[in-house]
Amino acid sequence: MNVAHTVGIIGGGQLARMMYQASIGLDLNIALLAEGPDVSAARVVHDVTVGDYTEAQVVKDFAATVDALTFDHEHVPTRLLEELEVTGLAVRPGSGALVYAQDKALMRAKLGGELGLPSPRWRICPDAEALRAFGNETGWPIIAKESRGGYDGHGVWRIDGPDDCGEPFQESLEVSAGERVEIIGEEFVDFTRELSVIVARTPEGECVSYPVSETVQEHGICVETTTPAPGIGPDRQDEIQRLGRDIASALGVVGLLAVELMERRDGEVVINELAMRPHNTGHWSIDGAVTSQFENHLRAVSGLPLGDPTARQPWCTMRNVLGGRPDLTAGIAHVGRDGGLKVHFYGKTMRPGRKVGHVTSYGSDLADVQARARSAAAYLMNE
Ligand code: ADP
Repeated sequence: MNVAHTVGIIGGGQLARMMYQASIGLDLNIALLAEGPDVSAARVVHDVTVGDYTEAQVVKDFAATVDALTFDHEHVPTRLLEELEVTGLAVRPGSGALVYAQDKALMRAKLGGELGLPSPRWRICPDAEALRAFGNETGWPIIAKESRGGYDGHGVWRIDGPDDCGEPFQESLEVSAGERVEIIGEEFVDFTRELSVIVARTPEGECVSYPVSETVQEHGICVETTTPAPGIGPDRQDEIQRLGRDIASALGVVGLLAVELMERRDGEVVINELAMRPHNTGHWSIDGAVTSQFENHLRAVSGLPLGDPTARQPWCTMRNVLGGRPDLTAGIAHVGRDGGLKVHFYGKTMRPGRKVGHVTSYGSDLADVQARARSAAAYLMNE
């Protein structure tokens, strides 16, 4: 087996920071290309290059120092990654897979169109008139999205009727790092809840699935997950885990794949979007699974065998700390008295609504586990 001893991570957010934490036990070296000297991961990794990930020469110089390259986010231009792959570098996930996490129009065409996997009706709409026509055909409301560059609900609009169709086109559609951004019209899925499944896949195609999580979004931002998703039957869970593995294999993903899903009233699921990196809905796995998502991502991208993704406890709830109290030490001390609770901070400056940390609670009583995570997060957020 060819193991990559130095893994380069592009992007210095909390995902890179938690990957670094997982690298220590695996004795892997991490090199970081960070946006600034003080970003979350740059505050802990010792081998840090500060530079702009959209600049070809910066990325190439950084890549020359590593055995395998992976990411904290999906914003590195696809063409730049293709150029690196030509040099023989192990880019993981490769550009051929990553593009489906970068571009929602390509993802819809591939998963819904070519592979026939459960997806909402959708169409690329070049202008307000086309969006109106799409809404008139599918029925109102509809969802409009930017094909690239969206995150945490930015670049997603609910369009209630024909008069609102101009909204997504008000700002000129920027070209995102050299790639075209388009507006997609999507059927409004009247979901009862959102789910997520995370799978890890090695270059040889070994694949494992984490239990399915229920995820709660507020204003487009994930605030809470519970794993396994309450009320999900074993057959439905198997089916969703298989869906995750099938997508990872069909796209040739190496590393982690998170599939965000919307569950309809009848229990059927529809694919929302993909991420190919550790995901907020997998943070529970640090404390709640035998092998965390961060460790399995690193195992996969460095060519090590995967670890066991099984949950250690019947229930695990993760709650994000959004903004928060300035006195972290007091906050950590307060919630630290609960043996079924863990706290993680990301070394980020406090700003209202910013993801600065998360708490995880676990145990055998679902209501109690959820209540403890909620109360700890509320305390840390000074609510
Ligand atoms: P982002 O890239 O910002 O995460 P998403 O595509 O995940 O954007 O959309 C953000 C949220 O909008 C989703 O979590 C979901 O709640 C809602 N949403 C997205 N697509 C649809 C849809 N087709 N029908 C109903 N709600 C949707």
